[in-house]
Amino acid sequence: MTTRTTVITGSASGMGAANRRRLEAEGHRVIGVDVHDAEVVADLSTADGRRDAIAAVTELAGGSIDGLVTWAGLAGLTGRPGRLLAAVNYFGTVELMEGLRPLLAAGDQPAAVAISSNSTTIQPGVPMDLVDALLAGDEEAALAEADLGDSFAAYPASKLAVARWCRRAAVTDEWAGAGIRLNAIAPGAVETPLLAASRADETVGSFIDQLPIPAGGPASPEDIVGVVSFLLGPDARFLVGSFVVVDGGSDALIRPDGMPVPFVL
Ligand code: NAD
Repeated sequence: MTTRTTVITGSASGMGAANRRRLEAEGHRVIGVDVHDAEVVADLSTADGRRDAIAAVTELAGGSIDGLVTWAGLAGLTGRPGRLLAAVNYFGTVELMEGLRPLLAAGDQPAAVAISSNSTTIQPGVPMDLVDALLAGDEEAALAEADLGDSFAAYPASKLAVARWCRRAAVTDEWAGAGIRLNAIAPGAVETPLLAASRADETVGSFIDQLPIPAGGPASPEDIVGVVSFLLGPDARFLVGSFVVVDGGSDALIRPDGMPVPFVL
């Protein structure tokens, strides 16, 4: 069997690092992208950093890749500007997806997984103007919109925009039509440095461990990355544009009838 090549953004920490370990154990060649400790060191908060990351991955890949998982992301924290989350979580996902799509198109049974979050459905008051501005694609305008709120509001907005972008793109000629499966996962609370920073935050820290998790939790990164292996692999051949909630039951507990949403004409 030929070695599969999978690109992971945010590969240096948390779930990205666990995903790297898992995929390497499964025999993948992993090309990591992160601000440190990665094959491709790049800052995905800027257009230049994304362009450099795409160029460097293209150089290393040698013509094709088989998988892409976009873990790179930031949580809302006190004093952290909303625009930084819009830039990394949304544009750092979408531009890497679009920029590396030609390499995926040349790959073997290619698949991509974007990282959303269950904050999209369980955090009240998601600023929908920011979701719309992100999806409109004008980065300067979207970052200005993100500055109208704080990074706690920008977080679920950036992750909802990622989920919507995935569902819109997944079914197009460029993705499903080119044989590339694109899906998104929505983790709940997962024990990583990101969650530890949220727990230490002066504004939201005391709420972090109050989230009800029927399965018990938080999850470990290993609880989540097996789902990504499934989504990248042949058993998920018919999954396209899915939004896979992996949250130990928090969303089902809080909003039992929130999904699925029926089609009302
Ligand atoms: P983490 O902080 O452990 O890892 C995130 C990685 O992204 C780090 O290695 C970091 O260096 C990288 N990164 C951040 N900014 C970057 C930039 N500008 N350019 C390149 N790389 C950058 O966090 P994690 O918890 O493993 O989170 C991974 C993803 O999962 C994130 O998108 C996060 O929003 C999402 N998520 C996390 C949780 C959770 O509870 N931990 C829940 C739902 C979704």
